[in-house]
Amino acid sequence: MTEHSSPSLLVVLIEDEPQIRRFVRAALEAEKFQVNEAENGNRGLIEIGTRRPDLVILDLGLPDMDGIELLRDLRAWSNVPVLILSARDHEADKVQALDVGADDYLSKPFGVPELLARVRALLRRSLRPHGDDAQVARFGGVEVNLVQRLVTRNGEPLHLTVLEYRLLTQLIANAGRVLTHRSLLRDVWGPNHTENTHYLRVYMSNLRRKLEDDPNVPQHILTESGVGYRLILS
Ligand code: CA
Repeated sequence: MTEHSSPSLLVVLIEDEPQIRRFVRAALEAEKFQVNEAENGNRGLIEIGTRRPDLVILDLGLPDMDGIELLRDLRAWSNVPVLILSARDHEADKVQALDVGADDYLSKPFGVPELLARVRALLRRSLRPHGDDAQVARFGGVEVNLVQRLVTRNGEPLHLTVLEYRLLTQLIANAGRVLTHRSLLRDVWGPNHTENTHYLRVYMSNLRRKLEDDPNVPQHILTESGVGYRLILS
């Protein structure tokens, strides 16, 4: 540790494959994170309960329990950010994990830069102070004043419909995080509309037309193929 370093952030890594544990640990320790490993779900829950980590990295395929099961249990008593690791051919598991409270996912195999970018984004989100900044969101030339319910683009007032605005604020409240089709439909349209993904396609394309410089190459309202959407603030 260098003499200037602040107390390091703690990550609990729950993964049964030793090679992946070694790989993730090395990548995180190089960035001064402290890493605690668990090779199964029960051990993982104990580690989280006793160590109170800043972030959890969770493999969905564990020997003693399903990662989804662990997540359900965890969400009853903890809001710690959770990044899930999933095999590429298990799309449905990934979506289900996000729906029960995971914050983001990485598909195996993944690289170090991708891993670190996701980890940083989740920590930025959870460690961000809830001050005045939370009242105004900015991305590209867009400014959304959440108190006055005012949206401007390059300084010009912009008209959004009620549902467009609700969808946008849902994305802003979860900026950086992947929101599944199902969770967006439930939170914006209501519990009876969770299968109506065509609503989302239409409204997202409207939002992009109004908010993105080039709606065909969006820089902020991003599609997570087969999963949902993610807003990048910057
Ligand atoms: Ca596994």
